Amino acid sequence: MSPLGGTGRQAEGGQASEASRGSDQDQISEGGTTPQQAEADPPRTHYVRSVPPRGDTSIFKRVASVGVVADPIADLRSETGSLISVYAQRPSPGGFAALLTDLLRPIREQAEAMDRPVAKAIRFDADRIHSLVPGFEVDPAPGYAIFVSDLDDLLVVESLTFPVADVAMVGPRPYLRPMRAAPRPLRSGVLVADRALARVFTAFGGRVEETGPPFEAESVKPNFGGFAGYEEHVVRGRAVETAQRIWKEASQHLLELHQDQPFDYLVVGAQGETVDDVARSLHPYLARLQRVVFQGNPGGLSLTHLRAQLDGFDEEVRAERDAALAGRVCDIAWSGGNAVLGLRGTLEAANIHAVDTLVVAGHFARDGVACDQCSYLGREGETCPVCESLLFHTDDVVASTMEVVIAGGGRVRQIRVASPLDGEGVGALTRFPVPV
Ligand SMILES: [Zn+2]
Repeated sequence: MSPLGGTGRQAEGGQASEASRGSDQDQISEGGTTPQQAEADPPRTHYVRSVPPRGDTSIFKRVASVGVVADPIADLRSETGSLISVYAQRPSPGGFAALLTDLLRPIREQAEAMDRPVAKAIRFDADRIHSLVPGFEVDPAPGYAIFVSDLDDLLVVESLTFPVADVAMVGPRPYLRPMRAAPRPLRSGVLVADRALARVFTAFGGRVEETGPPFEAESVKPNFGGFAGYEEHVVRGRAVETAQRIWKEASQHLLELHQDQPFDYLVVGAQGETVDDVARSLHPYLARLQRVVFQGNPGGLSLTHLRAQLDGFDEEVRAERDAALAGRVCDIAWSGGNAVLGLRGTLEAANIHAVDTLVVAGHFARDGVACDQCSYLGREGETCPVCESLLFHTDDVVASTMEVVIAGGGRVRQIRVASPLDGEGVGALTRFPVPV
């Protein structure tokens, strides 16, 4: 049997056009299909799995986790509401079968209330998800996202490279909140220096690179012989000059890197008070960036140690930004500006396409209703007040809101720190005033 994924389809057009009925599916098929997966699946089913590029893929994976993967999947649709989305993190060996049984039980129960053909298809899909267990058990990925609807010819399996909560949902659209909630990888510039040596690194999503050879002082030979008082003074003066020169050179290099691809924040490492001296040599553009300082020594710096430190700095910076954003939404809303607080106001804002930035406090979720035709969102109702279509119930209308906001060009942030937004659950910066 020929694979039905991206490259296979190009090679065998006839079979492919039959197999893919929508451009949405074309988009998600780029990853290709592995032979044993194609063998195992019926011909009209897509079994698509993302194939990361060769080499060190950490950057790709982390970027993919927040956008590249989610967006094509966001276009998947099931008119009958039979699209099952499952996120499963690797349990202890042999545990996938039990995990998926637990996750799919409520889906099977929900199916009982649906039309008979839909219910039958959902049961079939739940069984298909179970049939993936042997593959999951031998594969190394830390988790999976599965999107399946037999009625819509969909079966998409993505390996996940970031931790997610185990969850399963069924509805007309894919459940993407675990992907949307994944934090965006941060890019930082790192300068570690003493008076004789300055090293520059960039870091992005857990990957750290030294950007070139270190900036070094020519060796200054101290000569304190004889009546050395004056000479010692001169030598020290030169050492200070030399130090300032290499810091400036390193800072200039860092500036070029920043202008090429902007940093989210800057890290300066040095010993004792030298940290402040080094920081003072930064170009004003760099000096304006959020900055983290640490006690470090360029000579004995271990890349492994630096990487671990940077993971911690990323978390700190993220927490600060989350807190600042939540505070901003609350302040603006309280002062009557362009922001809303609380679920009802946020749904209203999303419905009129007013949301610029949606901010969700942690795992806050509420059930609600969504219109698959016009994307109307609400807390309850049978028919859409906008287009009179039947509304679908959803266990997480906040997730539906995230999708509506992203589709409308807005941004979403699920924050992970305690903030005044906790009492409201959700809020948004809006593009114009929203009457609530
Ligand atoms: Zn509608």
